[in-house]
Amino acid sequence: MTGRTHDAAAFVALSVVALSQPLVPVTLPTLLLALLANQIGGIAPDIDQPTAPFWRNLPVGRVFGRAFGLLSGGHRFITHSLLGLALAGVAVDALLHALHPIMPNVNLGYVWWSFMIGMLSHLVMDSITREGVPWLLPIPIKFGFPPVKRLRVVTGKKFEIFIIFPGIILIGALFYATHYAAAVHFLHHSVV
Ligand SMILES: [Zn+2]
Repeated sequence: MTGRTHDAAAFVALSVVALSQPLVPVTLPTLLLALLANQIGGIAPDIDQPTAPFWRNLPVGRVFGRAFGLLSGGHRFITHSLLGLALAGVAVDALLHALHPIMPNVNLGYVWWSFMIGMLSHLVMDSITREGVPWLLPIPIKFGFPPVKRLRVVTGKKFEIFIIFPGIILIGALFYATHYAAAVHFLHHSVV
């Protein structure tokens, strides 16, 4: 999937999870950082690709991207697995705790969950692409849906651009339309 599709899927996944829970107050820095962490999580698995948006925006990003790609076993390897998700969870947790002294008003748990939801949504979305996802590494089998490869989406092609991406936006819009009261209540009363 393209970065744009992953961004949209990560945001919709976070919205569905957050607004389906009993609403609890969060600070504004928590909300903003949670949204940022969610978007980073949504594209994080593709850091194993030298052309990933993450690397493209760094000055010598392509060089690092290629090196990281080799270290992580190439595209769609460890960063696209449950093992990679768990390792990223540990790394992000350590990073957030290290940063906590300079952002004391941030609820680290919220930011962590937002990252994890974003990253999990990436693996789910990539599972409907032709290449599939090696969910159970080190078992080297790529899983995908539907099981017949020919029926799956090709990244960046018409079906993704005209059906999958607008489909995610539509699901997000329908969710917000049906949970409008909860969303308004959250913004008015829960952000402190
Ligand atoms: Zn990917």
